This record gives sequence, C-alpha cells and structure tokens, in this order.
Amino acid sequence: MKTRTAVIYAPGEPIRVEEIELDPPKEHEVLVRMVAAGICHSDYHIISGELPSYLPLALGHEGAGIVEAIGPNVTNCKVGDHVVLSFIPSCGRCRYCTEGHSNLCNMGASILMGPQLDGTFRMHGEKGDIGQMCVISTFSERTVVSDMSVVPVDDYYPLNRAVLVGCGVPTGIGAVIHRAKVTAGSTVMVIGCGGIGMNAVQGAALAGARIIIAVDVNDFKLEKAKEFGATHTVNSKNEDPVAIAKDLTWGEGVDYAFEAIATPATIGQAYAATGKNGTVVVIGLTPATAESIPIPPLDLVLLQKTLMGTLYGDSQPRSDIPKLLKMYHAGKVKLDELVTRTYTLEQVNEAYADMLAGKNIRGVIEFA
Ligand SMILES: [Zn+2]
Ligand SMILES: [Zn+2]
Repeated sequence: MKTRTAVIYAPGEPIRVEEIELDPPKEHEVLVRMVAAGICHSDYHIISGELPSYLPLALGHEGAGIVEAIGPNVTNCKVGDHVVLSFIPSCGRCRYCTEGHSNLCNMGASILMGPQLDGTFRMHGEKGDIGQMCVISTFSERTVVSDMSVVPVDDYYPLNRAVLVGCGVPTGIGAVIHRAKVTAGSTVMVIGCGGIGMNAVQGAALAGARIIIAVDVNDFKLEKAKEFGATHTVNSKNEDPVAIAKDLTWGEGVDYAFEAIATPATIGQAYAATGKNGTVVVIGLTPATAESIPIPPLDLVLLQKTLMGTLYGDSQPRSDIPKLLKMYHAGKVKLDELVTRTYTLEQVNEAYADMLAGKNIRGVIEFA
C-alpha cells in the first residue's frame, strides 16, 4: 500500500515527507495506523549526522496507534487494538530480557541498521529501500513493525497522550526510579529540562525527593519544571548550578544528579554537584564523536561516587508502558502538561526547528 512518511536522505538536509510503498506485515509483524508520534531529540542526532545510521531512514521512534492488520503467528495483539510502540524491541527470550533488562534486549542492536528484524525492508521509495528508525518509524501514516515492538494498551487512554510513554516518560522516570533508585528524602539535581529531563524531575517528585534542583538555560522550561515538582530552578546561563547545589545542601552536594543534555561539560557539572556516596546518571545520547568526560578519578574513590548510564531508564516496555498509563489515570504521572504543541506530519521540519529553539517540552505529531 501507499503511505506518507517522513524520510531523511542525507545528514543536514531537510526531512522529506513523501508517499512511499509499504509492504504488508510478514510473520510476527503488525501493520499499525499511527495516531500520534512524539518529537524526540534522538532523531535529530540522525538528521544532523551526529549519530551514524542507515540512510535513507523513515524517522520517528515514539508513537501510538491502532492495529490494522497482523501477519501470521502474531499472538500478542489483534486488529483494532490500541498500541504504543517501543523504540527497543523485546524478544522475551534473550539473556537480558530474562534477567529483567528488556531495555537491553539483544534485538536492540538492530535499531539503527535500517531493515526489519528479518533483514528485509518494508518501506520502499523511488530510489530503493528505506530503513526504519528503531525498526518502527512512527512519523508515518502507517507502518509495519515487529510484534516485539508492540505494546497493547487499554483503549481508555487517549493515544495522543499514550504516545509519550513510548520513549520520553519511561526514560526520564525510569532513570530515577529503576536505575538510580532514588530514596524518599534525598536530594536531586536534573540538568536539562526537555522531554527526558522534565520526566526525571517528575520521577524525583514521585520518589519523594526532598530537594529537586532543575537546571536549564531556558526560563520557560524552568517555570514548567516547577509544575513537575522542582523545588528550585537554576538558569545556568546566569548562575553556577554546582555552587547552588552545594549551597542548598549545606555544603554536602546532592545525592543524585541526572544529566539529560549529553555534553561532556554538563556530565562534569553533574559529577561535581554530587557529594559523598553520590550517584550521577547520564541519560541523553552524546554525539558519537564525544570521547572523554571531565571526571576527577580520585573523587570516585575518596567520595565513593557512582557514575552510571541508562538506556530507556532501565524500563521494561511491556510492564512499564501500561503501568505508566495507569499512573496517569490515577493522577500520579503528568502527561497532558508535557505536550506544548501539536503538528501535522507535513510540519515535521517546523517541529524540529521548534525543538532546537527550545520552544517545546514535547511536540507531538497528530495524524488526521
Ligand atoms: Zn526518544
Ligand atoms: Zn531479548
């Protein structure tokens, strides 16, 4: 069938929204009509060329929609089901899935390679095969994905909100709850308050942190961070977040620092802001060329610090995506407040320009 899709052909070029040919689902695959897709920074790493991947690539890795057809032997969903797509497929059988880290499923190695999990392509353009971002490609009216990427959700939830629990929300909240295991009464700093960092602020509030310091260079995002539970905000253009972290904790430094900008300099700031027994969690994707981070190794031992990274917030898509929606329904997790602006698929370049200009917490593409 024909479908409209947002494709990047070469780094630095605008995204092209064009009609492409979409194959029907093969065995263990699902055809999904997208209802909403989130504008996440990770696609921009491919658009800018900071992260190498197969090209041309149909973009988008945060999305929710409705199952229109299933291939043979699909058992985890049926036609008509509402689904959130997970940007990492989980097989349920590999070592990492069975150890409770399905965010690290061995199938994840395929997400920037281009084809579907069997090595063949479902999307084709005039110039040949088109790869699928994270094997899902949510910036597309319709897409074909593996059943390992599909998480059915209750149709009670609006899909233009459920979309957010595909990437940004589980990554930010999971970094706090699953990876760092922040305890009630502790002190937290979050550097970067976009789609991921804002959810780390929200996660710290859920965990019962006593002090939550939100750091950004954008006053709009800092104001928003207060709605999500920040107790203090720092515009790092004007003030030194490390000095303020020490000041607010009587010189100790914070217990946990989350870094959601992904530059070596801000990772160094997060490290410097933590005190004895402190934990630093790096959440964002640094450019593939970034090599070293400014960490004094002596502190690692003398202050018994922990420096860790996290992918998807160590969340388990099949259990955490439905759970986060239940928490939204219970008023425990904010989703409505994350969406700053909605776009049509044709406006995808404008959506990325707005993201880069710092205008959005999350932009969402809504399909007609
Ligand atoms: Zn993302
Ligand atoms: Zn697996």
